[in-house]
Amino acid sequence: MTVYDAVFALDDPDVLVGAGLSCPACLSERTSLFVDVVDGGLDARGACGDCGATWALALAPQQLLRLSLDPPPQADVRWSRQFPPALLGEIGEDWDA
Ligand SMILES: [Zn+2]
Repeated sequence: MTVYDAVFALDDPDVLVGAGLSCPACLSERTSLFVDVVDGGLDARGACGDCGATWALALAPQQLLRLSLDPPPQADVRWSRQFPPALLGEIGEDWDA
């Protein structure tokens, strides 16, 4: 599975964050993102509602923080129940921007 780097910044407007979650194959923004933790590491998978493509997304801690605290309204971001809230807490403490 191809891994793409997420390209939005923590303080980007919703439209840019939404574009960062768009399908790398057909550029549709009708995508779902499922965020899980596997073996202690972040595992984010995207799926396109239009063309059916799936991909892995590499998210920096601040991008993860943005998606958890202030996701764009059109984004379909789902969090695994395994996702430890403490992980986001640690990121938040490091965030001094
Ligand atoms: Zn697509």
